[in-house]
Amino acid sequence: MTIAKLARKTVRELTPYQSARRLGGSGDIWLNANESPFANEYNISCSRLNRYSECQPAELIQAYADYAGVPKEQVLTSRGADEGIELLIRTFCEPNQESILYCPPTYGMYAISAETFNIATKTVPLTADWQLDLPAIQDNLDGVKLVFVCSPNNPTGNLMKRQDIEALLDMTANKALVVVDEAYIDFCPEASTVDLLNQYPNLVILRTLSKAFALAGLRCGFTLANNDVIELLLKVIAPYPVPVPVADIAVQALSPAGLAKTKFQVLDLCANRAYLQAGLSMLNDVRVFDGYGNYLLVQFPNADALFNALWDHGIILRRSPIENCIRISVGNRDECEKTLAFIREQL
Ligand code: PMP
Repeated sequence: MTIAKLARKTVRELTPYQSARRLGGSGDIWLNANESPFANEYNISCSRLNRYSECQPAELIQAYADYAGVPKEQVLTSRGADEGIELLIRTFCEPNQESILYCPPTYGMYAISAETFNIATKTVPLTADWQLDLPAIQDNLDGVKLVFVCSPNNPTGNLMKRQDIEALLDMTANKALVVVDEAYIDFCPEASTVDLLNQYPNLVILRTLSKAFALAGLRCGFTLANNDVIELLLKVIAPYPVPVPVADIAVQALSPAGLAKTKFQVLDLCANRAYLQAGLSMLNDVRVFDGYGNYLLVQFPNADALFNALWDHGIILRRSPIENCIRISVGNRDECEKTLAFIREQL
């Protein structure tokens, strides 16, 4: 018997997530993973590493609760928002019986996490203008415990209508949780649904320090929800999910000085996004979709050829499954200028 045969059948059939780095891209300009171009400096003290970290470091939970404007009982921290997705699925869905529902085109990890744990997935595609198809969702709610909604949506960049999220929360009351993935909300904080938490016990919000806070490599995310949801997640989470240095750095990022820096960098990125959007919109047969995160979805006449030409030139973007679309993360001004100039030359 080969070792591979010892693995669960589901696992044997999985294809691992392929990032551009894994695929061997060797670029100078990496605008493929919606990372921040700003590499901020932090001090870490490594003097307490003989001790386990707190499961939920109190200082970090308080700092994020203050930032998000919620009580600390409504905050859970985890290894990135990705671990939050996984925890929700493991906590709320019975394997081989219950399912999650998500609305493509959207973030890939909802499906990947569910499949890993033998949880079925139901899909209700977004409408032509990339909004929630509420009647179709309603028709598909049987056996669904979690409905994932991404706003701003990755990769399309648009926001979901607030009244649709509220209608979805009403529709699923006492039956399912609605998980609003707000990984990119710090680029448009006014669009957050965080103020709905007290009104809707079935609302869960995912957040991260990976995007606006420029800490993708830190792996620090947050789940915001009513305390009964948080208590359940705490039954499933690993005993020591947040390394001491991670909590240390995250607290610095959430300090008044850290928040001020992030605010400034968000403004900078939004200006670069506007620059890219304006420049690309002027090109023939190119369609740029309005984006509220740190990335833009752009439709080109021949996306495959352009994507490959950019790749060969050391500019790594993300090919989207949407027809002829490429997702471009917003970099610093120099990266945006070089990318725009190269695309202009190619068309
Ligand atoms: N949600 C969305 C929509 C994302 O795009 C990402 C990261 N690409 C995540 C969640 C995961 O974020 P983290 O780095 O915190 O795991």
